[in-house]
Amino acid sequence: MKKRAFTRRGLLSGGGLLAAATLASCKQREFSCWDAGSLPAADLQARRAVEYLDRAADASRRCDACQHWQPGARDACGGCAVVRGPIHPLGTCRVFTKRA
Ligand code: SF4
Repeated sequence: MKKRAFTRRGLLSGGGLLAAATLASCKQREFSCWDAGSLPAADLQARRAVEYLDRAADASRRCDACQHWQPGARDACGGCAVVRGPIHPLGTCRVFTKRA
């Protein structure tokens, strides 16, 4: 009986570690590509014109699913063929076009 309890505890702590690792990998994507202070005024205006956001409300319209998306390094801003400046993989804008 004691051995079984030990096994459960082992599973629970293993599950805890898995949850922590999953959380850590999610947190790696917590960064911003919308630093208005570092962008030229023309780029800022263009981003506002297409209503660029660092986080898409609709996951199916994320930048990393758009045909204009240009991936950057892992967990870093990428780029876009249409919108200038750093672009977040989880971002979106009005000219989103689903990649074929
Ligand atoms: S066009 Fe818009 S949705 Fe598509 S990658 Fe560029 S910024 Fe993101």
